[in-house]
Amino acid sequence: MHIAVIGTGYVGLVTGVCLAEIGNTVTCLDVDEEKVSLLKSGRSPIYEEGLEELLTKNLRKGNIQFTTDYREGLAGKEVIYIAVGTPERPDGSAELKYIESVCRAISENVRQDVVIVTKSTVPVGTNQYIKDLIEARLTPPITISVVSNPEFLRQGTAVHDTFHGDRIVIGSEDSWALELLEAINQPFQLPIVKTDLRSAEMIKYASNAFLAAKISFINEMSHLCAQVGANVDNVAAGMGMDKRIGKKFLHAGVGYGGSCFPKDTNALIAMGKQFDYQMPLLESVQQVNEMQRKRMVDMITTRLGSLDNKVVVLLGLTFKPNTDDMREAPSIRVAEELLRTGAVVKAYDPVAIPSAKTVMPEPVLFTSDLEEALQGADAAVIMTDWQQIKSFPLEEYRRLLVHPLLFDGRNCFTLAEMKNSGIEYHSIGRPVVN
Ligand code: NAD
Repeated sequence: MHIAVIGTGYVGLVTGVCLAEIGNTVTCLDVDEEKVSLLKSGRSPIYEEGLEELLTKNLRKGNIQFTTDYREGLAGKEVIYIAVGTPERPDGSAELKYIESVCRAISENVRQDVVIVTKSTVPVGTNQYIKDLIEARLTPPITISVVSNPEFLRQGTAVHDTFHGDRIVIGSEDSWALELLEAINQPFQLPIVKTDLRSAEMIKYASNAFLAAKISFINEMSHLCAQVGANVDNVAAGMGMDKRIGKKFLHAGVGYGGSCFPKDTNALIAMGKQFDYQMPLLESVQQVNEMQRKRMVDMITTRLGSLDNKVVVLLGLTFKPNTDDMREAPSIRVAEELLRTGAVVKAYDPVAIPSAKTVMPEPVLFTSDLEEALQGADAAVIMTDWQQIKSFPLEEYRRLLVHPLLFDGRNCFTLAEMKNSGIEYHSIGRPVVN
């Protein structure tokens, strides 16, 4: 198939490269000239395991190309994927201005019948809106069909997830467009859920909101565990063995972040408001998440008292490991709170220092050297469970910190291994060790 993918961010680039890998001819389009010229030279602007290898391989084979020119990018394409951002508006709803500008560009530049596939996460009804917008400016007799094909990849394992995900969801009112998308996706050999347009749009939001709820649930439990002397990891393990519950997303920590869970729960709440429905469960999910970040700072101040001129080092800045994405990372809020209380904040991350510098509050002292980060700090706070942090020898933590005081926002270590470490260890929902 001849396919265009509009937007070369986390979703668009991975989609484009993987569609090329399974044998399609793909043109990826982006308005960001710098990104496009980097991609043309075979370099990925984002850090995703395996992505650059697949990119260079398919560039060499001539299966994928990049452009900023819509006329060139859409010429002769049978299918156009939309993967531009849908960030949060101040009122929590999804911003559709990038989608709208893509629709304008499609209607002005497409010269053939085409199937439009929306990968972006969009509020229910948006695919119909996309169809209406494009058709309003299209020169007949060109016809379009729309398909909702929400994305479920996880940043950090995006390429793996595209080939090994749990399901592919496609929704449309056109049965032949559904069949076409089923055929395109067949080589991934994953279960395909075929449904109507609006249900497909809703599946994405409901899935993310459910996962966010699971995280906030175990975080709420973690607080009570700490009070009553239970160990939340043992509780989660015991709960997770029940197949009706499942063990995934039951990991207590400093809360969820990233570009999807916070914005998608907000967008769902905003959708509810449109229909006069308040969604009290989701509002609580967000509230617990916000409290969890604050709780980490409370743990530190309870232990250290005044943080005036105390050096606190944040270990890991991204919302999860194996990505350089800093959007809505809990480390931002924790750094803000620590600075507000007078602490000197140092920050370590193995890959995200450049992106962190653009969003972290000032003044923060950045380093991508873990040893340098720990040197002379009064306390260390694990914010991201990067392998580099988990496998750093505990005796080195003890040697480098002024006080061997470690706050672990991701429960990276077992209490048993911390027992003999000589480090005072505070974690989430578990007894303090040493
Ligand atoms: P992103 O911000 O990384 O990338 C968006 C890209 O679109 C940017 O490169 C931008 O330059 C480009 N763009 C903007 N306007 C354009 C236009 N008019 N024409 C061409 N290109 C344009 O976004 P992302 O993280 O890839 O997310 C994209 C969508 O996928 C969002 O709706 C998001 O909610 C959803 N999603 C994201 C993830 C994730 O893990 N990041 C997972 C599932 C779904």
